[in-house]
Amino acid sequence: MQAIDLSHPVRTGMQVFPGDPSVEFRSAATVAADGFAVAQLHLGSHSGTHLDAPLHTVQGGAAVDAMPLEALMGPARIVSLPEPSVNTVLGWQDVSGQLENLLPGTIVLFSTGWSRHFDTPVYLEHPTFDTEIAERLVAAGVRLVGVDILNPDPTPGPAAPGHAQGETFLPFHDVFLGSGGGIVENLTNLGAVPWADPWFSALPLRLEGLDGSPVRAVAFRP
Ligand SMILES: [Zn+2]
Repeated sequence: MQAIDLSHPVRTGMQVFPGDPSVEFRSAATVAADGFAVAQLHLGSHSGTHLDAPLHTVQGGAAVDAMPLEALMGPARIVSLPEPSVNTVLGWQDVSGQLENLLPGTIVLFSTGWSRHFDTPVYLEHPTFDTEIAERLVAAGVRLVGVDILNPDPTPGPAAPGHAQGETFLPFHDVFLGSGGGIVENLTNLGAVPWADPWFSALPLRLEGLDGSPVRAVAFRP
């Protein structure tokens, strides 16, 4: 079996959503001093390549440990949207041609190439996805969407035109997570997947009652 890693390395000081907890690894024990190595991890639940559970934006929504595993792995469709410019709003007409004949339950992965800007300020000026895309995917029976950007909605701050600094504005999240689905953010390397319709897996840690979790996202061919 061939597998392609679609995850960013998780490491101290990596870029996170503005205002989220920083990622810091510390040594809690070392082989030299203790005979074994143990690390202490400090990070937010949305660090690096991660899964948003419904609970992220929906009061009383499902947590990562309550999401069915079957929805988080399976046949996927990669939608290629190469080189959108800064703050582009992608609409249904930009993606619909690559979403024909979608079977219910297919995982949809949007590849913009934006992941090459990870860890730079430009990464925050990512393209965004119109709410109609979320509505149409939900209607088609899609339960999991992945993006190679920080956020399918505008990220608050100077990078989000038309929205005040710090304003939270999450219409894509509200529709897609509101349907009980999940969103995988900060994917990378989607352009390296050689198969038109790969399988995809993004399993969260079984973090009880939490709104999100880092994942090891993988494309593979069974
Ligand atoms: Zn998230």
